Amino acid sequence: MNLVAIVGRPNVGKSTLFNRLVGMRQAIVDETAGVTRDRHYGKCEWCGNEFSVVDTGGFTINSDDVFEGEIRKQVMIAIEESDLILFVVEVETGITDFDAEIADILRRSKKPVVLAVNKVDTGDRMFGVSEFYSLGLGEPWSISSANGSGTGDLLDRVVELLPKDAKIQEEQEDVPTIPHIAIVGKPNVGKSSMTNALLGEERNIVTPVAGTTRDSISTYYNKFGHEFMLVDTAGVRKKAKVHEDLEFYSVMRSIRAIENSDVCILMVDAQSGVEAQDMAIFNLIIRNKKGCVIVVNKWDTIEKDNNTMKEYTEAIKARIAPFNDIPIIFTSVINKQRIMDVLNAAARVYGNYSRRITTSELNDVMLPEIENYPPPAWKGKYIKIKYVTQLPTKSPTFAFFCNLPQYIREPYRRFLENKLRSHFDFSGCTLQIFLRQK
Ligand code: GDP
Ligand code: GDP
Repeated sequence: MNLVAIVGRPNVGKSTLFNRLVGMRQAIVDETAGVTRDRHYGKCEWCGNEFSVVDTGGFTINSDDVFEGEIRKQVMIAIEESDLILFVVEVETGITDFDAEIADILRRSKKPVVLAVNKVDTGDRMFGVSEFYSLGLGEPWSISSANGSGTGDLLDRVVELLPKDAKIQEEQEDVPTIPHIAIVGKPNVGKSSMTNALLGEERNIVTPVAGTTRDSISTYYNKFGHEFMLVDTAGVRKKAKVHEDLEFYSVMRSIRAIENSDVCILMVDAQSGVEAQDMAIFNLIIRNKKGCVIVVNKWDTIEKDNNTMKEYTEAIKARIAPFNDIPIIFTSVINKQRIMDVLNAAARVYGNYSRRITTSELNDVMLPEIENYPPPAWKGKYIKIKYVTQLPTKSPTFAFFCNLPQYIREPYRRFLENKLRSHFDFSGCTLQIFLRQK
């Protein structure tokens, strides 16, 4: 899937535009319990084209003396990691020195750039727009993120410039039956070491897998009874050490690998525990509804007694609640400790992720549960769930058909999810539950 980064200085309206681009779809799609809306990352759909959007502004600490340097770095990362840059300026202030500087960086990159001139709320503000031609980034697209005007034309342009092959290739699904596994995590947790430990000396095939970006690489793995594709292999990709401290960098680097995977191995550092950066990546995994295994690496560096592992496990579970069935494995990659456990867990989660339950089997177990504990009536209206079926999506998704789906509340949806999980093993996976009219 293509990735669009929104860049620009503070207050030009990046987050307002972001909300407009992802807002509508988000409301419809986010039916996963426990997922809060991500304010910086989402998906946008325009005329049948779907792409991911990142609001880089969401990652900036807004204090004037640090912001320019930080934004400069973000622009560099955005150029490296995304398919298209949406550069936002605004008509009220006109071109600032910093706008000109960002434009300079963007012009020198080879990335497609779309220049959006925001806050053109009314016709008379159109007069200020031509000034922005001087940034040398082609046509300035007038928009008002606040009232939505111009955003359709802007999106037409974005879709026109995005690499075309991606969508078609994704639909063809290069190797549909082989699990795609991504090793993700913040810098220095041991991703490359893990990759090398798994792949060993003999990297069977290193092929650029078509359908993503030109520089993304997947590696075929077939050893010890496991066959899968390692997506976007850490360590094979070049590192930009300078940016490593930034949460933004971790997130940008992870998005594509996560989107292209079925199961993500999220590596965290035993010494630091689960921090904000780890959570940001975890949320990307959940938001994309991928299977997940958490690996606590560098376990050799921890002083342990009999309870340490249990305490760690509990602490992580508390952090990632309500996702309490994600496998957590403690490794020392340098000592080759429990590396096979990681693979086994990933394979097991993939099995759950790709589990298909027949409609009759589902109804045999779920309808009695529903009968025992029916959805509470709402405003005197009797709510009846008639049947349930698994939808043919990649991640486990269930549709419950009922007479008045709009009256089924969140707690009952959670009840349905818990019952599904108690009858079928979906550990490590996010479940989506839709309530549909019938
Ligand atoms: P960011 O810092 O670039 O993410 O900017 P925000 O999206 O937070 O917007 C900064 C300010 O500009 C807020 O007060 C918005 O309400 C305002 N704003 C955003 N878009 C528009 C617009 O299209 N027209 C006008 N008049 N104001 C806008
Ligand atoms: P990446 O940035 O996530 O790819 O991390 P690397 O694989 O490059 O590892 C970062 C550093 O952590 C390197 O110096 C590794 O040798 C070290 N490292 C990796 N795994 C372990 C481990 O299990 N224990 C210890 N003590 N160090 C490790």
